[in-house]
Amino acid sequence: MSNSSAVAHPLQVGITGGIGSGKSLVCSIFKALGIPVYDADSHAKELMTTDGILVQQIKKEFGELSFHEDGSLNRGYLSKAVFNDVDKLERLNRLVHPRVGEDYARWVNQNANSPYVLKEAALLFEAGSHQTLDKVMVVVAPEALRIERVLQRDPQRTTEQIKAIIRNQMPEEEKMKRADHVIVNNETELLIPQVVALHHQFLSATASSRS
Ligand code: ATP
Repeated sequence: MSNSSAVAHPLQVGITGGIGSGKSLVCSIFKALGIPVYDADSHAKELMTTDGILVQQIKKEFGELSFHEDGSLNRGYLSKAVFNDVDKLERLNRLVHPRVGEDYARWVNQNANSPYVLKEAALLFEAGSHQTLDKVMVVVAPEALRIERVLQRDPQRTTEQIKAIIRNQMPEEEKMKRADHVIVNNETELLIPQVVALHHQFLSATASSRS
């Protein structure tokens, strides 16, 4: 018999992949199938200006100049502060990640009736958040194609800048070793059937854990 006071926890699935791999595109297919998606990178950006605790921590660590007078993030100042300084970047991430973690946990509770939920993050493994998820998928694509896609999507970026970002991310092969599922987005293999197959796997996993 089910315990009516117990809160149902949906299966939590992470989705990651390097820049331009197509994570957001894959997430839009899951969304079309009715699955809620938490975009950790967008929420992190938002929380950096809306979460009072985080704002105070950033000011204390990096100075009042981290924010403009209107409360928006002083991206130029902050990126200069952490640019090429792994230690400072690490410190900033250490402030942001726990706040995103709390916000995500609240969001999961709000979506407790969904059979499963997705957490999308570019640096899922790097941030260690895979440890709190039930399954992780990685979206992969050849590097040349990823660069081409990003250049088309973000014309202000250069090939060199994109390559530098790729070098700072965990190598794709490493992510593939750690992930439970790999989605190939190389524009040769069909994407939707791969997503639909995983959707059914997650639905059956949920059905067996809830029965
Ligand atoms: P980032 O980490 O930079 O946010 P991402 O992994 O979320 O990247 P997307 O934004 O989904 O990647 O994809 C990058 C660009 O490539 C987008 O403009 C997207 O529409 C396009 N794209 C991705 N996959 C395909 C595909 N299979 N066919 C055509 N265009 C694609």
